[in-house]
Amino acid sequence: MILVSILGFCVIFHFLAHYFKPYSRLKMIKDAKRVLIVTSHPDDETMFFGPTILSLCRGKSNFESKNLFLLCMSTGDHKNMGAKRKLELYNACKILGIPEENITILSYTRLRDDPGIRWREEVVSEGVLQAAYAYEIDTILTFDRHGISGHKNHSSIYSAMAYLVMENRLPSATKVFALRSVNVLRKYSSLLDVPMSFILASVVYTASVKDWCILHKAMAAHGSQNVWFRKLYMLFSRYILINTFDQIKTGSQASVTTTTHGNQMNFRRQTSIEKRKTN
Ligand SMILES: [Zn+2]
Repeated sequence: MILVSILGFCVIFHFLAHYFKPYSRLKMIKDAKRVLIVTSHPDDETMFFGPTILSLCRGKSNFESKNLFLLCMSTGDHKNMGAKRKLELYNACKILGIPEENITILSYTRLRDDPGIRWREEVVSEGVLQAAYAYEIDTILTFDRHGISGHKNHSSIYSAMAYLVMENRLPSATKVFALRSVNVLRKYSSLLDVPMSFILASVVYTASVKDWCILHKAMAAHGSQNVWFRKLYMLFSRYILINTFDQIKTGSQASVTTTTHGNQMNFRRQTSIEKRKTN
């Protein structure tokens, strides 16, 4: 009975948070005009950033899909399936609504798809800077330091972004937001995590029931990756229903490690993830 009540509350909360415009728009990034999503592998966009992409592409905000760009830092060739996964990404993005001409997939030998490898920050930075300037980006969305799944390729992007923010190398006024990682219990709590996530975060995008179905269709387009444990992930993950972000800002201390010309350097500068209070 208690569980049913909690579930009922979560369903109603999610309904209000998504469909009731004053709430649903309350925590979206208000001044985002040209958005770049930076991921590590084909399927990251669907598995982790789905609610955000669909909200941006399908009119939940005053935003046009032609202004949404995707930069995927590798072809996902860990098992020599890079070429196949590239095609799958294009097909998935068609379902999500990202225009094909807005998709950039890098294929650098120094950005190998491997969960055990940390990518060098200056290589990641170079790719991000090129895209950010070429597309006149004002908002960048990417992983946080834990990379949702703990994959080192994911967290490498956060390090590179923190470096770019603290070195002020991005186009002026560009804001960078990191997708918040949550613990494993919350990660697989689906609807049950929505109220807490929505209340605690300053930037939130939610998915409707229709969006949830679209995300499953997009994941099916990633045929080579859509194996049983990812099917389970798609059923129970809260990332299919809600995305919460924190802004990466200069401000307080955080450490970033980068490698330049083979020399390991440790930076300890003024950078932080801003956790703004809800307004
Ligand atoms: Zn990935």
